[in-house]
Amino acid sequence: MKNTKFSLQTMTQSLKHYDSIHDQYSGTFIDRPIALILILMLLPCFLINIALALCTRRSIFSMQHKTDALSRTVTLHHFSFGIWVKTAVLFDIYSGKLSFCGIPLTHRLSPDIQFCVMNQIKCKAGLFSLYDLHLKTGLTIMSKEQLLEQQLNGNSVDYFVLIIKSFMSIVLYGRAITKLKKAKNLSLFGLRVKNTSMAEAVDWITQTPTDKTNIGFFVNVHSINLSISDPTFFNQLSNANALFADGSGMRLAAKKAGFLLNGNNNGTDMLPHLCKSCVKSNQSLYFFGAKPGIAEQASKALCKQYPGLNVAGTAHGYNKDNNAEQIIDSINNSGCDILLVAMGSPVQEQWLLEHRDKLHCKTALAVGGLFDFYSGDISRSPLWLREIGMEWVWRLLQEPRNKFNRYVVGNPIFLYRTFILGLVNTGEK
Ligand code: UDP
Repeated sequence: MKNTKFSLQTMTQSLKHYDSIHDQYSGTFIDRPIALILILMLLPCFLINIALALCTRRSIFSMQHKTDALSRTVTLHHFSFGIWVKTAVLFDIYSGKLSFCGIPLTHRLSPDIQFCVMNQIKCKAGLFSLYDLHLKTGLTIMSKEQLLEQQLNGNSVDYFVLIIKSFMSIVLYGRAITKLKKAKNLSLFGLRVKNTSMAEAVDWITQTPTDKTNIGFFVNVHSINLSISDPTFFNQLSNANALFADGSGMRLAAKKAGFLLNGNNNGTDMLPHLCKSCVKSNQSLYFFGAKPGIAEQASKALCKQYPGLNVAGTAHGYNKDNNAEQIIDSINNSGCDILLVAMGSPVQEQWLLEHRDKLHCKTALAVGGLFDFYSGDISRSPLWLREIGMEWVWRLLQEPRNKFNRYVVGNPIFLYRTFILGLVNTGEK
């Protein structure tokens, strides 16, 4: 169907010598059959909406005017009355005015990128896009432009899979993220959590001025469950200089409180950004934790990937004789700026708080199984699972025994505490 790769980068570089390609975006041929199936399935609901509109003498549809990322105006149908009023957009898809997946309706691209896309590929506005999906699950591993490029270069199967993932994300996270409030800091489960984008979190780690070591923790479903059942751990988390919200559970909890989390600030996605920032600002790292050899392996892999990166030292996390003093000397003698401690919760958080006054580094973070991923010892979940916020399923499959309590028991308990007991409390802080 498509014979030329869509590339924003090449096109923006050669704007003046531009030949229009007018290639068709793959996959849209399945829009009409899918829309028809959904219309038939939703027919009883549509008939109720139409009957209600007729009884109350209102028009059946209301028109919604939107602007897509290419600044084109798109008019969408909604029912003016009844249930699931937005499902009337299925008629727009069936009539070919709109695609299931296409140019996002949620943001505007810069004028030169708009020019490239419009001339390079024929693509309608879409109800879903890869960008919207990543926004919803808080993935910040690619820019808007990279996501659009990847989406438009996908084949028909990718198109269909994107529809499925988008429907799943609606089921899991709801549709309306635009209605959620924004705040710099949130109070979630009694803890003050920073609501930072990935870039802001990295800036905090590398740029916060300090006389004493700044401590940062990533809070996720597991650490919240631990903090609720163990007040000592709750106090320890409260004593950190920064808490970052990690994972889709925290996203759901913030949403329950009416707030949008800016990013999924997990250590694993953050490390590449942190490495780049360290290379730029000439700051060094120290890796402490994981099984013998793993931190060293992770360090080698990262130094290869980010030339100029300085990992000043490594130490494993299985010190049976508890030689903390020796490790602290090694960390301090290395002269590192940023210390990453990977021993799992709550051990890593307790270790850092117990020894923070003896550390000389600028910032120290507790990072869980981070080195296992970057050493290649444990594989990271496939992107499609992360895109729907289900990375934990992968981790459970990899280590069913170790992770059973954390995920199979812990996740329902967290949901019960969040949605039934309403422990998320909250608001801005
Ligand atoms: N670990 C350690 N010392 C210990 C126990 C665990 O260094 O005494 C390491 C373990 O090898 C793993 C990390 O701590 O690399 C914990 O990973 P986990 O999967 O618990 O972290 P998560 O990312 O899920 O918080």
